Amino acid sequence: MLHNSARAIDMSLHLHSQTDPRRHEQEGPFVISSGDGVHVHDDTGKRYIEGMAGLWTASLGFNDARLAAAAGAQFARLANYHTFNHRSNEACIDLMEQIAAISPLAPCKIFFANSGSEANDSMIRLAWYYQAARGMPHKRRIISRQGAFHGSTVMGALLSGLPHMHRSFGTNSDDILYATKPHLYREGHEGESEDDFADRLIHELEAMILKAGPDTIAAMIAEPVMAAGGVIVPPRDYFARLRQLLDRHDILLLADEVVCGFGRTGNWFGSQTFDFVPDMFSVAKGLSSGYLPIAAVVVSDRLYQAIADEGHRNGGFGHGFTYSGHPVTSAVAAEALRIYHEIDVVGRARALGSHMHAALHEALADHPMVGEIRGVGLIAGVELVADRRTRQSFPAEAKVGAQVERACRARGIILRNMGDVLALCPPYIVEPEQLDELVHALALAIEDTRTSLG
Ligand code: PLP
Repeated sequence: MLHNSARAIDMSLHLHSQTDPRRHEQEGPFVISSGDGVHVHDDTGKRYIEGMAGLWTASLGFNDARLAAAAGAQFARLANYHTFNHRSNEACIDLMEQIAAISPLAPCKIFFANSGSEANDSMIRLAWYYQAARGMPHKRRIISRQGAFHGSTVMGALLSGLPHMHRSFGTNSDDILYATKPHLYREGHEGESEDDFADRLIHELEAMILKAGPDTIAAMIAEPVMAAGGVIVPPRDYFARLRQLLDRHDILLLADEVVCGFGRTGNWFGSQTFDFVPDMFSVAKGLSSGYLPIAAVVVSDRLYQAIADEGHRNGGFGHGFTYSGHPVTSAVAAEALRIYHEIDVVGRARALGSHMHAALHEALADHPMVGEIRGVGLIAGVELVADRRTRQSFPAEAKVGAQVERACRARGIILRNMGDVLALCPPYIVEPEQLDELVHALALAIEDTRTSLG
């Protein structure tokens, strides 16, 4: 166990990401000390199956030796160099070749960043630059969706349609429009079919576009499956119809593939699972199995050509980060992609995903506290409800999802609750028996919570 004084240091010094600060001062940190495949150990030595791959990141688990070796070799060869002013490095070139080989956009150009937020910010800057390049600088507004999470930088937070990302920051902007979340279970009208729901969403969005004026809107950003928004799987045809609508109004479609990218939904990219071609997409997290901070934006050739002309006219493209295309983060990501091919992450996501969804349905489909089990590929969400028939949620103050999350930990698994939705997003190296263990422990944790609620 970590020495008490070390815990006290964390409690007194650490302003934690996405954490209640006052509760942290009381309760202290949950310290993870080591990792072993899909397992992690806390500072008391307790072992957990990490059913969330950390923060939807650790595709290859928590101590992959090849990624460590790739980092070590690159550190020894060239530990730091930048990519401003025409500079490049072999690791970053190797990585780009691999990304381009699986990119649904071909030909494409690749811009590097360090986090999902930076990549999404970069997509917005690129969209504005593109619109200016074609003589339409007034196309500035961005459409996002209620419930979306796109990051924590100023623009990432603005794009996010989650109230706590805005409360007290004063970041609401008239330039961001939030469309309805494509979640039939919660947003559908009574008796509405999936197709009718998709139809309504597209019509509502069109009305929103016409009201704002298409010539004021640069782009729409969307995650194929809204992960942190509650693992929301859109209606079939939703994205194909969205794409047509946006094309009709000359609005770009930007896909946030930060969670969905690199196999999660059962294809290399979520856009392939939902059958649409974006104008740009952002990747991060799984790009390096989350081992080092790296992200990228993949840009279609059509956009790139306009951006390149504009950059040339401006005497240079005014965007980029010190660590864009960093050799060590690139080398680790390139090795991760090689391993993804070798272990067939796409095939694994499909097979393991079917197993996980079947196990979830078998264990929980009839549970009185379970309203909806959803997901695709190797990602799932379980929504808890107070009343299955009316779909009534628990009162937010009861923090039922958080109680289940704690009960999961007591039973040796780590999941994440977003309100009363429990998310599952295990590493691709998970074995079917471990998925069974995960689902069994989740079912027991829900039962523990039901008992404690009385
Ligand atoms: N986009 C999505 C869909 C995410 O889930 C996240 C993070 O969870 C981000 C963007 C932001 O990524 P980062 O935290 O690396 O900035």
